[in-house]
Amino acid sequence: LALLGPAPGAPCCPHGPALLFVKTSQGKEEGRRFYACSACRDRKDCNFFQWEDEKVSETRLAAREEYNRNHQPAFTHRQNVDRYKNFVLLPSSRRRFCQECQQLLLPAEWEKHSDHQLLCDITTAQLKSPSQLLYPLENKKTNAQYLFADRSCQFLLNLLIDLGFRRVLSVGTPRLHEMIQSKASQEEEFNVRSLLLDIDFRYSQFYTEDEFCHYNMFNHHFFGGEAALETCRKFLCEENGERIIMVTDPPFGGLVEALASSFKKLMAMWRETENEGHDNKEMPMFWIFPYFFESRILDFFPSFSMMDYQVDYDNHALYKHGKTGRRQSPVRIFTNLTPSMIVLPEEEGYRFCAVCQRYVSSGNQHCEICNSCTSKDGRRWKHCVLCKKCVKPSWFHCNNCNCCTLQKHSCEKTDVGCFVCGKAGHKRSACPSLSHA
Ligand code: SAH
Ligand code: ZN
Ligand code: ZN
Ligand code: ZN
Ligand code: ZN
Repeated sequence: LALLGPAPGAPCCPHGPALLFVKTSQGKEEGRRFYACSACRDRKDCNFFQWEDEKVSETRLAAREEYNRNHQPAFTHRQNVDRYKNFVLLPSSRRRFCQECQQLLLPAEWEKHSDHQLLCDITTAQLKSPSQLLYPLENKKTNAQYLFADRSCQFLLNLLIDLGFRRVLSVGTPRLHEMIQSKASQEEEFNVRSLLLDIDFRYSQFYTEDEFCHYNMFNHHFFGGEAALETCRKFLCEENGERIIMVTDPPFGGLVEALASSFKKLMAMWRETENEGHDNKEMPMFWIFPYFFESRILDFFPSFSMMDYQVDYDNHALYKHGKTGRRQSPVRIFTNLTPSMIVLPEEEGYRFCAVCQRYVSSGNQHCEICNSCTSKDGRRWKHCVLCKKCVKPSWFHCNNCNCCTLQKHSCEKTDVGCFVCGKAGHKRSACPSLSHA
């Protein structure tokens, strides 16, 4: 399956313009092109489908519009902001949250939710950390909401503050946004601001239109239309010299090209703001993603480099820090900032490599032959003279395949590389990189 990208005049599903796909076999297009939902890779979440050359009747178009309207959230963002204003005026004994509907309830609504699980006595602290109150949408294929562990979130925030940034465009990083919002409301001298762009509309219950935009990062769609787009544009203007950085942590299920295309549009919006000297520059960015996507990201953003820092998550059993006895996290920071400026914590085992001019994992040894610190996963890699590069410690050189690979492998090659890691020999579904399920 290959993505042909956002197409002009694409039909819309409830998640905005659909993306154009085609089935491929051995690198060649095969069969009819079709549109499918940009956001939901699981047909159960959104079953939108249309052949590219299909004639859609007026009646079906009308029905589709009706369907799209009916599949918008029950309350608008504006209504949710008003509801929130009323909610905070209530004494905490009258503040309830419905866990089934994932909704703050006003007293008049209790009745309707009487046989649902309710959380009572919602505190101001709880309202300031919605990512703790809402349950994470973990369905792998669509939302894949994996929340930063406090340590990683704190690290990211301190890092960007130390780098001199005062504005953060948080794209799919509700927990980072929440940490910034909450500090801003509590600490007088804290002067960082954040705008959250996320497809999870539940957050509109907690943030105003200036703090949250309902956004789809696979098709660069602002659900709030021109007004929301304008909010984002305004935020990107660096008034008073407040420098901005975009931080994003998208779901890992593929579609790197769709993400890259949206991020380029956000970067273009920044470049077009009336700031001087943006012409040849890129908006600074942290793209948080697994290390095995390195080559795919560099295809789209050649100016990016991958940092060794391992990003940890709260609700992902396998993506927690190595020191807890668990497997190490494969998730890294990709950035277009100069690597030497990204200082990684020595107390967590990172050190500075003077040759590479960047911080690396303690296990990442500088290879004299490659002349770089070559490990991607934090373990010590070994140099293979035949492959002329460093490889994973568990690999060995196979003379049949003429490359290094796992001891246990079948020596037959398939022409097409894996969709995820680009390597030959397996399909996406069997990619060893994704074997965290
Ligand atoms: N680690 C981050 C959360 C990353 S999980 C944190 O702790 O802040 C991925 C995030 O992307 C989720 O918040 C999810 O709601 C959002 N997301 C998933 N699909 C999206 C889409 N199509 N457009 C925008 N955001 C999306
Ligand atoms: Zn959809
Ligand atoms: Zn080095
Ligand atoms: Zn080497
Ligand atoms: Zn080899």
